[in-house]
Amino acid sequence: MQLEEARDLRERWGEKLCNHPDLTKEYYLGTQTGDYVCTTCGKARWGRDWNKTKSE
Ligand SMILES: [Zn+2]
Repeated sequence: MQLEEARDLRERWGEKLCNHPDLTKEYYLGTQTGDYVCTTCGKARWGRDWNKTKSE
């Protein structure tokens, strides 16, 4: 997913709760940013399984 797309997703999703069921790699132009984006809410964090941790 492109960085821009993730930002749009976040804006549309707002402050609703999300359990981040599916992550995808984030890209800026053709380059991976190293972050993974929730395809539901657009939240981006480092690491491919941040949605599995309970810390957030
Ligand atoms: Zn999410």
